[in-house]
Amino acid sequence: MNRRRFFERSAGAAVLAASGAHAADKPSIEQFDQAAAQPVLKLDALKSPVVIDSIRLLRKGRDYFVHVRSKDGAEGVSLDNGRAQYLSPILRQLIVPHFIGKDARDLENHLWQLYRDNYKLQGLAFWSPQAWVEFAILDMLGRVANKPIGDLLGGVIRREVPFYVASGRRDTTPQQEVEYLRKLIDETGAKAVKYRIGGRMSRNADAMPGRTKALIPLTRKALGDAIDLHADSNSSYDPPQAIEVGRMLEEIKAVYYEEPCPFDHLEDTKKVADALTIPVAGGEQEFSERRFRWMIANRGVDIVQPDLHYYGGLIRSIRVARMAKLAGMSTTVHISGGFGFVYMLHFASCVPDIGKYQEFKQEMARYRDWFNPPLSSKSGSLIVPEGPGVGIADITAVLKGASEAPVSDG
Ligand SMILES: [Mg+2]
Repeated sequence: MNRRRFFERSAGAAVLAASGAHAADKPSIEQFDQAAAQPVLKLDALKSPVVIDSIRLLRKGRDYFVHVRSKDGAEGVSLDNGRAQYLSPILRQLIVPHFIGKDARDLENHLWQLYRDNYKLQGLAFWSPQAWVEFAILDMLGRVANKPIGDLLGGVIRREVPFYVASGRRDTTPQQEVEYLRKLIDETGAKAVKYRIGGRMSRNADAMPGRTKALIPLTRKALGDAIDLHADSNSSYDPPQAIEVGRMLEEIKAVYYEEPCPFDHLEDTKKVADALTIPVAGGEQEFSERRFRWMIANRGVDIVQPDLHYYGGLIRSIRVARMAKLAGMSTTVHISGGFGFVYMLHFASCVPDIGKYQEFKQEMARYRDWFNPPLSSKSGSLIVPEGPGVGIADITAVLKGASEAPVSDG
């Protein structure tokens, strides 16, 4: 009850600040909907149409790019999340034709119509290719306006983004895992880490017997109090076991506890969030705005985590962040795919409450020199690219050697 009262008070304060309403009021469903529905894009600088002439899927080695060009020769580019090879038929047959000949400045309306035409396909396999196109169009609009993406999405409010470095392993013993975490910290200068617990969609089974119960206290003991800890069970537990593990994470004062229960079991996840004081985070596979609204309005989690690719792009994710803000909750986006952290940086540049740390999977070296100045970090924070659009300095150079992805890829 203490936790619930605390959050109801925070939510009430957020509404009070936003609307002048009485502090005891919880936001209504209508208020959440209104917050989500406000236009996101700020395109005042673009006085004339930017008509989309072509959208192509290109491949270079293992990278897939979506390239958009306007009739006037403006261009933008995005990178996929490792799924273009098998999702390209959806991209090419359903999504690309929708945009050709249209003014890119009306992107928000085009996205709504695209959804209307394809709502039966709503899900990760549809939203991912939509996200690639959205990122490429935003890159193009930013280049035309000479502004970074964050300025198109409401305005850049921060340039430095504290990150945690994510381990991603379950094949390690507890001792091996803390050694690996130490290595990640040394390599990146991170002030925070995330490690995996449980067995991943495992119906309570651990990755190896006793790993989680030994690992949690060991991380604090081995890494010390100066490193902030996050743990992710990837949908491993039922509520009793999730709560038992959550208590251990409370003991070590972890920042948050991600996906304690099967990701789409909203009721079980809420039971765990209600029982614990540690913030519960979730939402990386969520694809419905109304289910995010439910999670926020009912405090089904404490931190929402739309994935910028899986959830269909930056604009949809900002709508989730607006609903979360109304309830006094943070939005810490999940990232899938190597280049995804660059989109995370643009999201983080313009969204007020992103939580304490953002995810970083250590894939900077691969893309560093595409940017000017090169991608960098300092003192545990990543620096938001400052060039126009996504910040790639020379699209032609990056795409050198790329060719049209084969039709066998869709
Ligand atoms: Mg996760």
